[in-house]
Amino acid sequence: CGIVGYVGPQSALEVVMAGLKRLEYRGYDSAGVAVLADGGLATAKKAGKLLNLEKELDGRPLPAGATGIGHTRWATHGGPTDTNAHPHIDNAGRVAVVHNGIIENFALLRAELAERGHELASETDTEVVAHLLAEEFSSCADLAEAMRLACRRLEGAFTLVAVHADEPDVVVGARRNSPLVVGVGEGEAFLASDVAAFIAHTRSAIELGQDQVVELRRDGVTVTGFDGRPADVRPYHVDWDASA
Ligand code: GLU
Repeated sequence: CGIVGYVGPQSALEVVMAGLKRLEYRGYDSAGVAVLADGGLATAKKAGKLLNLEKELDGRPLPAGATGIGHTRWATHGGPTDTNAHPHIDNAGRVAVVHNGIIENFALLRAELAERGHELASETDTEVVAHLLAEEFSSCADLAEAMRLACRRLEGAFTLVAVHADEPDVVVGARRNSPLVVGVGEGEAFLASDVAAFIAHTRSAIELGQDQVVELRRDGVTVTGFDGRPADVRPYHVDWDASA
């Protein structure tokens, strides 16, 4: 029910965990994070409160990284278990994706992926996206492009945020019928389902439009439609009081 993404000089894990806390009011049944570090991808996810995830991270700390994503889940497909918690990863363990919403045509996509040799681990509608992204990335080597291509195959309502170990300085987000806001800082950038997640860091925000993909880097953000066309980006100043 909440999504946070970060790239920049701070500890991605700390920024993401703090962001997820700011989104707790939305309600959730599981939580998870993924961090890109040392050329690889590290994840942790747990059913239950953020406290459970914190305990997991205390016992098995993730390597420090500058790029990360996080998620609080409100289960729609598959019960609230550790395995069904997000992020979901591909079979090579290189791409991680978090998702709010519902992928309506997931059963068809699952069957297609299984035929092509993918092994799916969870009962979620979300996991197909990790596998689709891995397939698309293997031919275009560009996560934003892989996201655009994957999104064109999805039906339903979704906010998606993904990272790939081969593009360690990039976070990619996409949305259809579900909210996603970009926070533009100095030398850092944020993604969240709600500005509350990053208001402590920046008040410069961009509301992602319908059927758009955003690529986040430290030095800026690029927004396109699912069709690849550059999109109009209108940053606004968030002036409400976040301490409330
Ligand atoms: N449909 C996805 C799932 O059940 C995402 C749920 C959500 O919005 O948190 O895992």
